[in-house]
Amino acid sequence: SKPRIGFIGLGNMGTPMSARLLEAGYTVIGTDLSAENRARLVASGGSAVQSTGEVAALADVLILMLPNSSIVESVLESDGAAAALPQGAIVVDMSSSEPLRTRALAERLAISGGPTLVDAPVSGGVGGAVTGKLTIMAGGDAETIETLRPILEVLGKVRHTGEVGSGHALKALNNLLSATHLLVTSEAMAAGKEFGLDPQTMLEVFNSSSGRSGSTENKWPNFILPGSFDSGFGLALMLKDMKIAASLAESLGRPSQLGARAVELWGQAATELDPASDHTEIARWAASKD
Ligand code: NAD
Repeated sequence: SKPRIGFIGLGNMGTPMSARLLEAGYTVIGTDLSAENRARLVASGGSAVQSTGEVAALADVLILMLPNSSIVESVLESDGAAAALPQGAIVVDMSSSEPLRTRALAERLAISGGPTLVDAPVSGGVGGAVTGKLTIMAGGDAETIETLRPILEVLGKVRHTGEVGSGHALKALNNLLSATHLLVTSEAMAAGKEFGLDPQTMLEVFNSSSGRSGSTENKWPNFILPGSFDSGFGLALMLKDMKIAASLAESLGRPSQLGARAVELWGQAATELDPASDHTEIARWAASKD
């Protein structure tokens, strides 16, 4: 029979991901700080409980889709979710956490006789979560990843990236590229518009040229040009990822100078914009600078 899935963190990503697992026939029991998010799990056929310990006690596989490493650690360690898991359970941190902290956390859990932890962060956004087309970067031992594969494949395409923490390293680096592309694309769009170029024409030409990226193919046409700014990925979360990547690169003696500048600019935007802004608001911010 299918493993029972515990799901902690039912936000913009966790809600559609847990809904897909339910559709695929898994039993999902979950929680979130927000009662509204717990109600969304129940509405898609799952069970919601109040505490993370109650979720853990019933889970064979515990998926975390939380904002950051500090919250992942507090849920598993101080709140006691790791200790509440049945023997042999596996924890899958699908959040975009910090690779070195993930590695250290996995070691602490192992030393205390706790669960195996793997990291499996994702790319593809809310749209990818809804359609099951995420890219999943799985770090951990090959056997554990193979055990998890049927579950993860409900959510997207799985790539084993190496040891525990490696998925989180690759995810952070991906987002450093993504955020840097988005900012420079937004600056180029603002300059082109000033020159009198039509934004739609610019995007079409970039997309059949070497300047294309996820920003020209997806973010600009779908969320920025139409003026909706509703990708479902917060600006503060993007800045967190960029800082993880920049400090990782620095700690490895391979700093990214351009990345460090992008972190500064995104950091400035974060202080000037509403803290709840979508990350695509960086385009409006860039266009407002002179
Ligand atoms: P979100 O803020 O929408 O969701 C996080 C959820 O965690 C919230 O609902 C919050 O209430 C809940 N939460 C926080 N602390 C908790 C606790 N102690 N116990 C229980 N629940 C708690 O964020 P999101 O956009 O879903 O992102 C989640 C993770 O995935 C982040 O690490 C983010 O960087 C990453 N990510 C997001 C996207 C995206 O497009 N939104 C894409 C890829 C990766």
